[in-house]
Amino acid sequence: MTTPALPQLYGVIGDPVAHSLSPLIHNGWLSDLEINAHYVAMHVPAGKLADALETLGQQGCKGVNITLPHKQDALALAGTASDAARTIGAANTLLSKMDGGWHAENTDAPGFRHGLGQAFMEAEAGRDTGGSGGPALVIGAGGAAMAVAAVFGGDQQSTVFCNRTIEKAERLRDVYAETAEPGTESQSRACGLAALEEELGACSFVVNATSLGHSGQSIDWPAGRGRLVYDLSYGKAADAFLAPARDAGWVTVDGLRMLVAQAGFSFKLWFGMEPDFDHAFARCQTALEMTP
Ligand code: NAP
Repeated sequence: MTTPALPQLYGVIGDPVAHSLSPLIHNGWLSDLEINAHYVAMHVPAGKLADALETLGQQGCKGVNITLPHKQDALALAGTASDAARTIGAANTLLSKMDGGWHAENTDAPGFRHGLGQAFMEAEAGRDTGGSGGPALVIGAGGAAMAVAAVFGGDQQSTVFCNRTIEKAERLRDVYAETAEPGTESQSRACGLAALEEELGACSFVVNATSLGHSGQSIDWPAGRGRLVYDLSYGKAADAFLAPARDAGWVTVDGLRMLVAQAGFSFKLWFGMEPDFDHAFARCQTALEMTP
């Protein structure tokens, strides 16, 4: 009798990570597709990523997702990286290499692109809904916003980057310029929160990439006139940020589709198979509904 092969190890590394929906998403797909692998959440504090990756390499781990606060360190520690990960300056996916090192990828950008497309379909809204013909407005300039800037630069989407710390909004313009055609610099602008009210009035849609909703906060919303607000967060954080926007007449969509899509693109890199996004989305919705 032959001994069954042990499942291969995959997972997500972060701090905090206990709340992560990634194990639910990936283990669901592994089970659906009958792949002999298991995906776990791994709590690794800041500064400890190199040690964790070394141990995982020794254990034969084939791939990991990386979340806060390690995305930049993951890129720095990887021996090779995709152009997208280098432009964005962060990695959310690592693949083990034959030489024992790691290759860095970033699936947040294609995940965002997929999620935004779904958001417009869900909202039944075109990019110019509201009749303003104005630019996209991105609020927040942390790690997730870098992926947004790369996508909007590549799309030559006219964009205003607005952030509490204006220097970080200006950095997003650099990412935008790196991915856009030369000569399109004027299609993006950076500003601080003092300009937020005016920019909200003039934009055609909003992407929220702040973490405001996680502390139960939102912003002051002017009349939405049916325009889209796409919040990258999901669950209770998105509820807190989006409820006042809805009250003011904005069409709101949260970031759960992006979460599932970035996971799906990581899965495809590891296993060469495209998993069922809708199935995972439904499983996540159920899990979030059951969260007290
Ligand atoms: P981050 O790097 O910590 O950045 C947070 C941003 O929020 C910064 O720009 C920060 O401004 C701003 N901010 C925080 N508190 C604020 C306040 N009181 N007033 C004004 N601005 C404030 O976070 P991140 O990793 O980019 O994540 C941002 C959001 O995206 C989170 O909600 C996260 O859950 C979500 N996300 C979703 C996905 C997905 O797959 N759906 C993936 C990644 C992230 P300063 O720059 O001035 O500090």
